[in-house]
Amino acid sequence: MGKPIKKIIVILLVILFLPLAFFTFREVSSLDENEKMIGEIYKNQLESILFSVNQYSEDIVRSWITRLETIFENNPGERGLKTKLEQFFTETQSLREIFISDSTLTKKFYAEKSGTGLQLSGSNNFIEKISAANSSLLKKLYRYVKSGFVKIEPLKSSPDGLQFLMFVFDENKFCVLGIDAKIFVQKNLTSKIQSVARDQFSVAVYRSNSETKIYQTDEVDLKNIQQSKNLWLVPYYNLGILLKGKTIDQLVKERSLTNIVLLAAFTVLMVFTAMYAFGNIKKEVELAQIKNDFVSNVSHELRTPLALISMFAETLEMGRATSEEKKREYYGIINHEANRLSKIVNRILSFSQIEAGKKTYSFSKIDLNNVAAKIFETYNYHLTNKGCNFHFEPSKEAVNINGDGEAVSEAIINLIDNAVKYSGDKKFVSVKIKNENGFAVVEVEDNGIGIPPDEQRKIFDKFYRASKGLVHNTKGTGLGLALVKHIIDAHKGKIELTSEVGKGSKFRLLFPLIDS
Ligand code: ADP
Repeated sequence: MGKPIKKIIVILLVILFLPLAFFTFREVSSLDENEKMIGEIYKNQLESILFSVNQYSEDIVRSWITRLETIFENNPGERGLKTKLEQFFTETQSLREIFISDSTLTKKFYAEKSGTGLQLSGSNNFIEKISAANSSLLKKLYRYVKSGFVKIEPLKSSPDGLQFLMFVFDENKFCVLGIDAKIFVQKNLTSKIQSVARDQFSVAVYRSNSETKIYQTDEVDLKNIQQSKNLWLVPYYNLGILLKGKTIDQLVKERSLTNIVLLAAFTVLMVFTAMYAFGNIKKEVELAQIKNDFVSNVSHELRTPLALISMFAETLEMGRATSEEKKREYYGIINHEANRLSKIVNRILSFSQIEAGKKTYSFSKIDLNNVAAKIFETYNYHLTNKGCNFHFEPSKEAVNINGDGEAVSEAIINLIDNAVKYSGDKKFVSVKIKNENGFAVVEVEDNGIGIPPDEQRKIFDKFYRASKGLVHNTKGTGLGLALVKHIIDAHKGKIELTSEVGKGSKFRLLFPLIDS
């Protein structure tokens, strides 16, 4: 891995992954805390809903107290009082008994609503008894009134079904109200309970000791109650509440899960973005490196033939060639080097045409046997002279393709050039033309240095040159195979490569066959 690439990795690590890792760690560790906080907030909300129902029940009884005060204040006389109380009992629905007395229990008043109507009398033994039993509470209530506060207290000793509420009117008068607890809940509190429950909560009122429900906004399983409270004024009953649909625990768990999934998705996204950015930057860096190499490779490739041409031209010009034979040899070298130069320049021109999208092909029916045979004729002498064993095997039948003869020939020559370039001392190149399953095939094989598997794909990229071994010492531009690929693509053909390091390579160009 090159230095710039390592630098990019370090930079990406520092600017992306470290903050991300830190953020993820922080989020995951604070999730639990956040969820606890949410749980707490939910609990408080439920608590305040229960509080508001209790507050409402107290407001109702306070309004009764005000009514009672006005009924008695105006001294209506026995008949008037009875009518007014009858009306009051009917309105309150759950009220059963009223007992009013001075603190010494000498001036007493008692009213009871029974099946036969309203009974008024001067005393009630039972209430007097429990009032005496709660004398210390009564004293406390008197003290409250002195400081201007009327407190309503439920009496624990109330008989089953009936709830006594005690409060003090003024400094010398207290009152005990007997209410039917069940009816108080069902008639006086339901509208409030429904309004606080709305569509979000289910609320139930049930006996605290037997868990018998006396009211529920909808079907409530008491096991699922999330928060419950005694009703202040009827403490034998509990008020329980739960979120509709899901429990707080489920909600909290769902939220945690969503958070973690989102975090994971975000992390994956960041990783992909980083990988994409890294891939692009790496490509750019490699391309810049490759372009650098290209310039130095091309300069090198141009310099050698130019130096040879100028050296032999100068020798000839100065008349230093002693014999005709020598002269011919020098002319031959100059010619050969000039050809090499023009090949390099042509290749670069072809490539720049491709890059500019200006490369055009003129297609016609051509026989690959003929194209390859011409190449063999031109190169055989030259290659054999160089000590290369050049073998050519045309196909027995004609292999016609729709192609650009010059371009196809350029592709084959490039492959032959490489086969020679990338072979050691014992050079062998074989060119075979075949007719195979609807394809015309050109097979160029050598037993040269071979190409490692991880490079086999890359060698068709522009400017790419293997950087090790013999290749490093061999001149080249890295454009040959990119040109071959472009030519084959334009012919709707394909390239196959089999190669083994140290044993050799076989390039196969496949063109769609056409009828002869
Ligand atoms: P160049 O030959 O100018 O470097 P090419 O595009 O023709 O560029 O080839 C790209 C690379 O593919 C070469 O640098 C070489 O590493 C590898 N290569 C191509 N042909 C052969 C072959 N016949 N044997 C071994 N390696 C090859």
